[in-house]
Amino acid sequence: KVKSEGKNHFSFFADELSEDLKERVNVEKMLHHSLDADALLVYFQPKYSLIDGHLTGMEALVRMKRCDGSIMTPYHFIPVAEESGLIIRLGKQVLDKSCKQAKAWFDAGKPVKVAVNIGASQFNEFGFTKTVADTLYKYDLSPEWLELEITESALIQNINSAKKAIMSLQRLGVSIALDDFGTGYSSLSYLRSFNFDVLKIDRSFILDIDSDEQAVRIVKAIIDLADSLRLEVVCEGIETQAQLVALQTMGCEQGQGFYFAKPQPAEALESAWEARY
Ligand code: C2E
Ligand code: MG
Ligand code: MG
Ligand code: MG
Repeated sequence: KVKSEGKNHFSFFADELSEDLKERVNVEKMLHHSLDADALLVYFQPKYSLIDGHLTGMEALVRMKRCDGSIMTPYHFIPVAEESGLIIRLGKQVLDKSCKQAKAWFDAGKPVKVAVNIGASQFNEFGFTKTVADTLYKYDLSPEWLELEITESALIQNINSAKKAIMSLQRLGVSIALDDFGTGYSSLSYLRSFNFDVLKIDRSFILDIDSDEQAVRIVKAIIDLADSLRLEVVCEGIETQAQLVALQTMGCEQGQGFYFAKPQPAEALESAWEARY
């Protein structure tokens, strides 16, 4: 009896594993196909000044279209892209499409800085700075309209070479944001080692900012720290007016979140330039 239970147990896990594996292989296939067809989509989510409500930037967020036309979010395919090495091609295509869109907005008399998320292996790949420079050149886009968002995970591999890479990107005229601030292991020591331009406070700190005194104190401390280091601060994931008001009260200067706008295709963002809060 025990034996047969054990066997069923085993086959249960084996089935589950193979389902996982099938899904992973399937996603990788879709990624290959999308990359070959240059068919990845880039959505944009606006960022706003919490002081006067003007548009301060757009974050580029990649999406993949399934065969049935539905849209897959990065959570389902970025890890597969990282593991398979496809993240390099993905990153290049997203950077290309983002710079192209930034140039189109500039030419339309609606200049806005576009922030592109950069994966760890993309950032650490030899020649990344050159790829950025080439893409700016390709679209004749001034570097002031491009920001790169990186997370701590991109920096831990090799602090010294990461420092050099960030400096050379900044020398190009591109700005650097530290994304998901507060979720990593050594956020504070990274602030000392690198000269970021922007700090994005992770959504998890904003979640109960309107009700939790502890969350308020932490965010307030991060904002003050950023001010004294002359870093811009952006709060991610603002969903309610109560969260917005709480952040305005503590002097946060920029925000982003579903309260203002969800990530959307560029064509759907005509009204993003109208001030809002
Ligand atoms: P992230 O860079 O921290 O981006 C913020 C994520 O939070 C986005 O999810 C955005 O849609 C979501 N978000 C924004 N406002 C709100 C809100 O008010 N409430 C909630 N619940 N969520 C909000 P998304 O688009 O699914 O992207 C997830 C992550 O995938 C990104 O986190 C980023 O790390 C990664 N990612 C996205 N695009 C790219 C890319 O082109 N390259 C790389 N390497 N990573 C990317
Ligand atoms: Mg980001
Ligand atoms: Mg983030
Ligand atoms: Mg985040």
